[in-house]
Amino acid sequence: MKIIQKRTKDKMRYLFILGIFLILTLIIPGCMKKNNVQDESRMMIGVKVYHIDRELDALFKEWEGLGINTIFASPSVFEDEFSSLAKKHHITTFIILPVFYDPTALEADPGLYAITDKGEKAIEEWVEFVCPSRRDYRIQKVEYINKLIRELEPDGISLDFIRYFCFWEKVYPDRPPDLIPNTCFCPYCLEKFQSEKQINIPDSLEDSGAVAKWIQANHSNDWIQWKCGIITSMVENIVNEAKKTKPEIKVNLHVVPWRKDDFNNAIRRIVAQDFAVLANYADIISPMTYAHMVKRKPAWIHSVVNDIHEQADCKVIPSIQVNQAYLKDTLTEKEFELNVLEALKPPSSGVFFWSWDQLESRPEKKEVLKRVLDSVYFLPNI
Ligand SMILES: [Zn+2]
Repeated sequence: MKIIQKRTKDKMRYLFILGIFLILTLIIPGCMKKNNVQDESRMMIGVKVYHIDRELDALFKEWEGLGINTIFASPSVFEDEFSSLAKKHHITTFIILPVFYDPTALEADPGLYAITDKGEKAIEEWVEFVCPSRRDYRIQKVEYINKLIRELEPDGISLDFIRYFCFWEKVYPDRPPDLIPNTCFCPYCLEKFQSEKQINIPDSLEDSGAVAKWIQANHSNDWIQWKCGIITSMVENIVNEAKKTKPEIKVNLHVVPWRKDDFNNAIRRIVAQDFAVLANYADIISPMTYAHMVKRKPAWIHSVVNDIHEQADCKVIPSIQVNQAYLKDTLTEKEFELNVLEALKPPSSGVFFWSWDQLESRPEKKEVLKRVLDSVYFLPNI
C-alpha cells in the first residue's frame, strides 16, 4: 500500500515539475520577445558629434546618464575604443555621411558643381553642392561609404545632404517660393533629363536661365519627378550596397524640414526629397527642425513630424538645435525645453540634438534635457 502511495506521489511530483517546465517554456520566449520589442521600439535619444576632445569613458558614462542612447558621429570620431565603449554602454552608432556636399571633390573638379536656374554655380556662403546626377561621383561615393562601413563597423549610416542644393537654414517663412534657387541645370542634367523623359528643349533658348524657365513652364511635373528619382536612386544604391556588406545596418536620412505644401511643394520641387518613396529604404527620416534658426515656433516641430509621418512608412525623429545659429537672438533654456517637448510628441519616435558641442558649451541645457527626459520617458514601467 505504502509503495503504491509513494509511486503515486512520485508520479504527481513528476507531473507537477513537467507542468512547471512546460509553463516556463511557454512564458520565457514570450518575455524575451516582449523585451526585444521594447528595445526595438525604445525612444531614440541621439546627439550629433563632429569631434571629441574628452576622455571617452567619462563621455560615454555622461551620455548614458543623460539618457542618450544613439550617437551620430563623423567618421573621424570613430576609433577602436569608441565602438567598443558604445557597445558597452548600449549606445547605437551611426556614421554621418554627407552625400552631395563635398568641398574636396569640388575643389579637385569644379566641373562637378550643380548649376542654378540663373546659370550660376550652386554656392551660397558655405553651402556648395555637387550635381547629383554625375555617374562617376555617385559610384565613388557609394564605394567610399561601403569602405567606411567595413572599416568602422557602425550600427547605422546617416545620410546627410542627400538632396539638391538649398541653403534652407536661411529660408524664412516669408520667402517667396520662386526665389528659392532651383537646380540642377548643368549640361549633363539637361541631356539626361531630355533623353530619359523624351523631351526636346528648343535650340532657340540661349542660356541656362531661359532653359530653366522653359522647363518649369512646360514640363514642371516631369522635372520634379525626374529630380526626385535622381535622389531616391542614390539612396537606393547606397543602401543596397551597404546591406551587402552589413545586412542588418540601419539607415537614417537627414532631411530638409519642410512640410509637403511649404514654399509651393519645395520639398520635392527644390530639394527633391520624396518621403513616401524614400521610406522604402530608410529606417528613420529625421527632419532638421531647427525652429529658432528658421524663425518658427516650437509647435512647428510637431507639425513637421506629423506631416512627414503621414507620408512615410518609417520612424520619424526630429533633430533640434541646442543653441542659436545664424541669428543673434538667444535660444533660451525655456524655448529649448519647449522644443524638446514638441519634438517628443507622438508620432515622433525620439529626438536628436544638434549638436553635442552645443550641449557641452551650455551645461544648463544638459540639465533641461535630463529633466525633460526623466519626466516624460524614463518613468517606471515605461
Ligand atoms: Zn547637374
